[in-house]
Amino acid sequence: MNTKKPSDDELKEFLLKMYLEEVQAEEEIARKAKEHKEIHETLRKLAPTEFYEYLSEQNPPIRCSICGNSKFSTPTTSTVDRSKLPANMSELTKDEQKLAREAARRLLVTYTFLTDMSGEVDYKKAYYPLHCRTCGHLDLFRASVINLWKEQKEKAEFSSESDPMDECEDE
Ligand SMILES: [Zn+2]
Repeated sequence: MNTKKPSDDELKEFLLKMYLEEVQAEEEIARKAKEHKEIHETLRKLAPTEFYEYLSEQNPPIRCSICGNSKFSTPTTSTVDRSKLPANMSELTKDEQKLAREAARRLLVTYTFLTDMSGEVDYKKAYYPLHCRTCGHLDLFRASVINLWKEQKEKAEFSSESDPMDECEDE
């Protein structure tokens, strides 16, 4: 084989191209990771009570489309709401910290993705599941629809006058 050797300039250009492709690929990976993190953060906010409130606002009474029963469950995960932790957390004793963490703990509905072959994490393909406790039938609700409902509800609550009793509520 008689391969022609590249000139110094050709070699430089080739390496520069490879370098730029590598940088672009890394930027793309970082961009995707940030986007995925934001999607998960958006999805990890629905409380089971909000999910049931959404369902009850549809066309009650809600019944299983297979067996007709009306007892449902939804898978949940628990998380500590950091904004509900006391500011002086580090000054508390171990037991007090444990109590504070328990008080700040909240339940969230877990979600699942119906992805295509690419396995791409897509917000529009995220669903909150609802199981029938009698026959096990599974219903999936599009997360983007529920989150939009939640957003509009929160906006409406924010714009209406706040009830002074709410502010006194001891949680
Ligand atoms: Zn059922």
